Amino acid sequence: MIAMGMVRRAATRAALAAGFMCAIVNVAAASDTPLRASLIEAARAFDEAALHVNDSQPADLVRWAGPIFLAVSDIEGLQDLAPEVEASVRSLAEIAGITVVRVGTDDPRRNFLVREADPAGRAACRASVYSQAGRITRVEVELWRASRAIRRCANHEVMHAFGFRSHAHGAASILSYRQRHQAGFSELDRLLVATLYDPRLQAGMKPAAGSAAACGIIAERLGLTAQAAGTLCTGEMFAAAGR
Ligand SMILES: [Zn+2]
Repeated sequence: MIAMGMVRRAATRAALAAGFMCAIVNVAAASDTPLRASLIEAARAFDEAALHVNDSQPADLVRWAGPIFLAVSDIEGLQDLAPEVEASVRSLAEIAGITVVRVGTDDPRRNFLVREADPAGRAACRASVYSQAGRITRVEVELWRASRAIRRCANHEVMHAFGFRSHAHGAASILSYRQRHQAGFSELDRLLVATLYDPRLQAGMKPAAGSAAACGIIAERLGLTAQAAGTLCTGEMFAAAGR
């Protein structure tokens, strides 16, 4: 689950219709089929999770641009959780190239808070992501102590907190509600983070531009040639792949 704060809603339906995703044409050799399938899955997951909010409206790209000042509250009965959550944040931050400084919960520099959800509130984990001009300024992750899958819950919300404000239900990702047995970050999750923080993408990028650039980056990381990526990552093929 994710709650949005100060979300820019400048992205329009027109941007969606213009083709904010890339897709695939049948130009690669048969031996490239696994790579092409990986590209479809990863590019689709990126578009769904990074260029939308709450499984619905298209959204501009957001990400951290400066250091994370992380505060994690201990949760009663879950003493191992705080260090595990910190390790998760650090593992994604390392991929993103973002510095993490652990601070106390009362530190005025705190911009990434992990705490227990209100026991009297809704029975769910959630992340609130605040951004300005595409730069994440503050994040608050609330963990529902009674969750039967608290670690999965925490890692799911930490992914949201890095700028993935929606989900990728069809992918092998912690951001999919269907991957109920996945508690940690998958290879695809790490690829998504590396893509979002690639310097060729920019904070505040519009969905169409972000999608095309991300597809090229993913194709390159998967080992497809620049020529293949240039052909594969075009809006025209989108419909052919059913995206
Ligand atoms: Zn979620």
